Amino acid sequence: MEGLMMHTPLTIKGILKIAVNNYANQEIVTKLVEGGIHRYSFKDAEKRMAKLAHALVRMGVKPGDRIGVMGWNTHRQLELYYALGCIGAICHTINPRLGAENAAFVINHAEDKFVFYDLTFAPLIEAIAPHLKSVKGYVVLTDKANAPKSPINPAVYETLLAKEKDSYDWPDLDENTACSMCYTSGTTGQPKGVLYSHRAIVLQAMVTCLPASFGCTHEDTLLPVVPMFHVNAWNAPYAALLIGAKLVLPGPGMDGESLYTLIEDEKVTYSLGVPTIWLGLLAYLEENNKTFSTMKYTLVGGSALSEAIIRGFEKYGVRVRQGWGMTEMSPTGTVNAEDPGFYDLPIEERIPIQLKQGRALPFIDMRIMSEDGKELPWDGVSSGHLQVRGPWVISDYYNSDKPTLTEDGWFDTGDVSVIHPDGRMQITDRAKDVIKSGGEWISTLDIENAALMFPAVAQAAAIGVHHPKWQERPLLIVALKKGASAEPEEIRQFVCERLPKISHPDAVEIIDEIPIGATGKVLKTKLREMFKDYVLPSLADKAASKSNAGEKKSLLKSLFGKK
Ligand code: AMP
Repeated sequence: MEGLMMHTPLTIKGILKIAVNNYANQEIVTKLVEGGIHRYSFKDAEKRMAKLAHALVRMGVKPGDRIGVMGWNTHRQLELYYALGCIGAICHTINPRLGAENAAFVINHAEDKFVFYDLTFAPLIEAIAPHLKSVKGYVVLTDKANAPKSPINPAVYETLLAKEKDSYDWPDLDENTACSMCYTSGTTGQPKGVLYSHRAIVLQAMVTCLPASFGCTHEDTLLPVVPMFHVNAWNAPYAALLIGAKLVLPGPGMDGESLYTLIEDEKVTYSLGVPTIWLGLLAYLEENNKTFSTMKYTLVGGSALSEAIIRGFEKYGVRVRQGWGMTEMSPTGTVNAEDPGFYDLPIEERIPIQLKQGRALPFIDMRIMSEDGKELPWDGVSSGHLQVRGPWVISDYYNSDKPTLTEDGWFDTGDVSVIHPDGRMQITDRAKDVIKSGGEWISTLDIENAALMFPAVAQAAAIGVHHPKWQERPLLIVALKKGASAEPEEIRQFVCERLPKISHPDAVEIIDEIPIGATGKVLKTKLREMFKDYVLPSLADKAASKSNAGEKKSLLKSLFGKK
């Protein structure tokens, strides 16, 4: 139709332009892998991105090529994000925590042409290099002085950049060009590739900066602790340059002490990360009698936020917001922003609201579906499979012949949730983790949240174990804080007091450490494996009280199908 607006593309070149034109002197600060701090301005960052772009083109990188990057959150990975995207190539971030086999699989599947890696990951890359079919060469993200001898003869990043020009005539790309790529880190099945378009990244970066979303502004100093090797660190590296916020990158320093020092030294006001990281930071503050002097907000996502984290941060004057999303959603789908007057409420009333995953970001549609495919009401009670659609939701996995969407065009998230009448979505489980007890679905998140409030508990995970009458009943598995002690029954009683009867764990087991996966989530598959022959104490007692050995055998057989 005539008389409409222009159609100029939404690409990350536009973000870079805003950063340089409007906020040229704003800072990017990195805790280096080699030790020490690196600091430069947005203007100087763009110059190095230009040098990198020239180097990439000289190496033979062409539009559409996938380039693997395995690195910590550093200015060098930020340069790769922008330089690759802005020349039309694809920055394929690789999660080192998923191990060598996974890395080899995703590099081969994506057919990466080159692989860039941090020093930390040299042994991993060297070990898999003989199995990487498409890779033409390697680049180690350091300077000559720090580059070790290596059998794969990597080029040295700083040497590559040194000889190049510091300006680049960035091309105009179609906004539907792929800009970056990340593989799912599901615990079952092969990883699946997700391509992020320039348009999806730009739209999400803009929307996440809205006040009722992440709500960060140009006055903030952002610290993405969430790794840049997983779903673009929730787009913080794009959002910061878009709004002109100072960006602080923690490098490999993810422990409580390193994070605390960086937060204080760089006057961080807004941090983003997964719950496990925050538990480590809070423990450090507690053990060392420290307080925050500038931190105001933290955004928690990737796994469910717990009451312990909310209270832990509030003690130091930091407000906590929860976000929910996934690799297939670039990644953010909902954020739980506070309604006006929220902080006037007593904390007991606030916490149940904060534990919800939040309202859909603008332009994201959500629905919940019953087992038999019917759409369920937003009544806060009906619980079903959460499906989504929107401009930054996947339409197809990369090079996969499996259907990605439902027949009517929605993406099934694999999460089970309720949606409250005020639009706030609340996850109760992953579909595969839900405990099905006598036809009812029990939320493992509720049980874990209650357990984390027990002072001696450091980590908690609930899984379903077989029960002859109820099919499944909850077993709560906990790990205790360093030096703390508690009896399983004490913990069980504490949790039961906080939950409806159906959710009472039938037993509590204490183990040394809860297995955590590569993206900070509890590895329930591993726990289910560890406890696959677990007999609930009440059932074992029942079996033991049968005096006749034959009866006992047949009872156990009837309960567990075993001899
Ligand atoms: P990933 O694709 O690795 O980022 O994992 C996505 C999954 O993490 C989601 O489908 C959820 O199961 C889980 N997840 C992410 N954020 C949250 C949250 N705030 N609360 C509960 N689960 C979450």
